[in-house]
Amino acid sequence: MIAVLKNGVTKEQAESVILWLKNQGVDVHVSEGKYQTVLGLIGDTRRIDEELLGSLEIVETVKRVSEPYKSVNRKFHPDDTIIDIGGIKIGGGNFQIIAGPCSVESREQLCGIAQEICKTGAGLLRGGAFKPRTSPYDFQGLKVEGLDLLVEAKKLTGMPIVTEIMNANHLPYFENVDVIQVGARNMQNFELLKELGKTDKIILLKRGLANTIKEWLMSAEYIMAGGNEKIILCERGIRTYETYTRNTLDLSAIPVIKELTHLPIIVDPSHATGVARYVKPMAIAAAAAGADGLMIEVHNDPSNALCDGAQSLTPAQFADVAQAVEKVRSVI
Ligand code: PEP
Ligand code: MN
Repeated sequence: MIAVLKNGVTKEQAESVILWLKNQGVDVHVSEGKYQTVLGLIGDTRRIDEELLGSLEIVETVKRVSEPYKSVNRKFHPDDTIIDIGGIKIGGGNFQIIAGPCSVESREQLCGIAQEICKTGAGLLRGGAFKPRTSPYDFQGLKVEGLDLLVEAKKLTGMPIVTEIMNANHLPYFENVDVIQVGARNMQNFELLKELGKTDKIILLKRGLANTIKEWLMSAEYIMAGGNEKIILCERGIRTYETYTRNTLDLSAIPVIKELTHLPIIVDPSHATGVARYVKPMAIAAAAAGADGLMIEVHNDPSNALCDGAQSLTPAQFADVAQAVEKVRSVI
């Protein structure tokens, strides 16, 4: 259930109604917009008298919400959430490209790529240090050493860093990481999501390989229920019967997500297609469809990459894609 308070309601008035609601056994999520405050009632709202709530002097409207996700629901929070990463913003009209290698392989590799892409359109640097690989015999990442190299590359270029976490026990290592990625394979690792909900870190939540949008939003709800509202969603393609591409990019998730939630959504055309030459058209399409950003894999030597070389762009190809995306954005 949501209650929209009237324009001009004072803090004290809002607090008194929040206390009144809490005394009836529900939790209240408060969203203060530019003009109005929206109260999201979470928990068992069956005992709340809708008519009585609506009749209160300071309440404008009351609506029952049937979706199981509450805090991430746009009805609770009509304004777009803007994620601010040290001054670099995503959402609410702010667009960013996160780029970098699939895995951090060495100082030369990471710093070389970072120095090139920061000049040609990347706002944030990505790189996996803990890698979720399908085969246990594949390169598993440089782990803590990889995180240290990301911090070095950040110092060198000024770009905030994005990297994946696989285990909540590793959280202490992620202190200097700006955005913690939850990969597709961990989208429903609820214990991990709960732990991340207790932190104040920005979380990039990728859509699971075979998950519905509702399940994805429920995973975001897990993080928000713990008190962490700093979430960016990332569509990275879903598993279908198609085999010419690694996954099938669900571009329709962009307008659906925009309608259902206030959280920003970015698109990863690299994992979605698995093929470097398909990245540009899909990046352009995602930007045209209203995505708040992109995540693109870039490698200095794709044919010798330790992970995901086939879908990685060279820095020169990245520059071309970033320029094309900018052109499309300027006409939309
Ligand atoms: C990645 O970003 O390198 C990655 C493993 O992505 P996903 O979880 O989308 O497969
Ligand atoms: Mn990858």
